[in-house]
Amino acid sequence: MSLFHEFCLQGNRAIVVDEPGVTRDRLYGRSFWGDHEFVVVDTGGVLNVSKSQANVMEDLAISTTIGMDGISLLSREAAVARMPSMIERQATAAVEEASVIIFLVDGQAGLTAADVEIADWLRKSYSSKYIVLAVNKCESPRKGVMQASEFWSLGFSPIPISALSGTGTGELLDLVCSGLKKTEDVENMDEEENYVPSIAIVGRPNVGKSSILNSLLGEDRTIVSPISGTTRDAIDTEFVGPDGQKFRLIDTAGIRRRASVASSGSTTEALSVNRAFRAIRRSDVVALVIEAMACITEQDTRIAERIEKEGKGCLIVVNKWDTIPNKNQQTATYYEQDVREKMRMLDWAPIVYSTAITGQSVEKVIVAASTVEKERARRLSTAILNQVIREAIAFKPPPRTRGGKRGRVYYCTQAAIRPPTFVFFVNDAKLFPETYRRYMEKQLRSDAGFAGTPIRLLWRSRR
Ligand code: GDP
Repeated sequence: MSLFHEFCLQGNRAIVVDEPGVTRDRLYGRSFWGDHEFVVVDTGGVLNVSKSQANVMEDLAISTTIGMDGISLLSREAAVARMPSMIERQATAAVEEASVIIFLVDGQAGLTAADVEIADWLRKSYSSKYIVLAVNKCESPRKGVMQASEFWSLGFSPIPISALSGTGTGELLDLVCSGLKKTEDVENMDEEENYVPSIAIVGRPNVGKSSILNSLLGEDRTIVSPISGTTRDAIDTEFVGPDGQKFRLIDTAGIRRRASVASSGSTTEALSVNRAFRAIRRSDVVALVIEAMACITEQDTRIAERIEKEGKGCLIVVNKWDTIPNKNQQTATYYEQDVREKMRMLDWAPIVYSTAITGQSVEKVIVAASTVEKERARRLSTAILNQVIREAIAFKPPPRTRGGKRGRVYYCTQAAIRPPTFVFFVNDAKLFPETYRRYMEKQLRSDAGFAGTPIRLLWRSRR
């Protein structure tokens, strides 16, 4: 049974096929999986879903030319020898069109020279495509993991499946669907280039938010356009940072119309927290301003928690740095220790010291915000990601339970950006305690960066 049939015959489970039919030698069927609806087309060994199918919400292209349907008919030598023409005739067109490529290999036959060559070809020619490596004929889940592990050297994360029994095809489809989102991102590259991140400057009253804003928008800054905010109390401004990056600055009444809300003490404080929450929601990156000589209060930590919870990028701006007397080289280090101690939830956020009234260092705020935004939208290659994780596990394996059970990570993939989200496929998520999850996050950060952005680790059991 081909993978195509497996996909299309899952009607009784989560995949439903509407109208299978034969057109121009192409067998196609409409399916859906989760929130995704797509067309699967089989071109005799090439499973392909093309963008030209107008009435589909999402498109999926799968190529099995380079899998059991195509290659299993050939001897290994013949496969290698015939591959270029085979790729030319069958696979190239399908892969070219494909949104997602499933690279299907034979788990029982093991790794072949043809697999290596095809992997190289895919990597070289289609590095921007989302490629899923499926290891077929892994009927036994336990043995399947072993069978699949042999294929790590191809540079993609292998997923054991059995087209015969249906084992693993659900996970495969999950991954394919997460790839569809990724592909959309790639296809919308122009849109991505035009993406204007929003920065919110938040903090307690009087810490210097409007001074920073004025300094940012002052003199030689190019103000592109004032934009009416979507809420009554916000007036956004687009401007261009020093590296040419466009930003939208979210201004709140707390900054622009401070006088009108001037009231005493706690009311102003409460108002400013709510305003900060609203600004955070609309932002990509938050500059959380605190005052150098003042203590970090509960209000600051509430804002900090909210930033983390909403998955926004963040930099901590320590303003009024000029008011610290007798500064020396250690001052910033001591100060940083204090901030880290009190704002543990933002231990990944860079700290910038500024003196807004002189404009000193304010430029650093925008440069840091620009870096943070890039980190928040960064994708890590699956190969590097899994290498980092393998090393982290080798250094410190998950703890054993009293019953002697131990968590195992099969592989990991980055499922989303803004914020970067990683899905760990494991034997049993319950075998990974909170401490171990934190350890993994720390390792991921220390080996792969992501400064200034929260990252999400999702643990998914696969039995
Ligand atoms: P906001 O309420 O957070 O918008 O704060 P403002 O920008 O209105 O600043 C409050 C006060 O702090 C004003 O009197 C500013 O002149 C002063 N201020 C702002 N930034 C600095 C700074 O870097 N150093 C010093 N010494 N004063 C500052």
